[in-house]
Amino acid sequence: MSQDCLFCKIANKELPAEIIYEDENLVAFQDIHPQAPVHILLIPRKHIDRINNLSEDDAYLMGLLTLAARKLAVDKGIDKSGYRILMNCNAHAGQTVFHIHMHLLGGKPLPHLG
Ligand code: AMP
Ligand code: ZN
Repeated sequence: MSQDCLFCKIANKELPAEIIYEDENLVAFQDIHPQAPVHILLIPRKHIDRINNLSEDDAYLMGLLTLAARKLAVDKGIDKSGYRILMNCNAHAGQTVFHIHMHLLGGKPLPHLG
């Protein structure tokens, strides 16, 4: 828990969010400014500010996050049509909230990257 972290506060129910799934390790909630019909953020409860500061101890946690995103994609009915999971790190990627989060996007064709 980091005192001034928006996403820690959401995970601890100190700030409201439309929570879709939660367990002892992670929380998934609706993005407040959705970029697609499905736009869910998945966060670990553990405060990690950016991907740069992940450690080997976090490997299992990151796997859980990915598997939860996959499960939500099925629940939302976008697994067949397709979806994107992505994480931004620092300025050039446009990271704005410094508690790592995975975006799950889908429900429409997404702009091709790269
Ligand atoms: P990023 O640019 O990768 O750091 O993504 C931050 C995301 O958090 C953006 O898509 C925002 O729309 C979203 N966001 C910011 N504040 C909130 C909030 N209070 N509840 C839900 N989503 C939020
Ligand atoms: Zn945090």
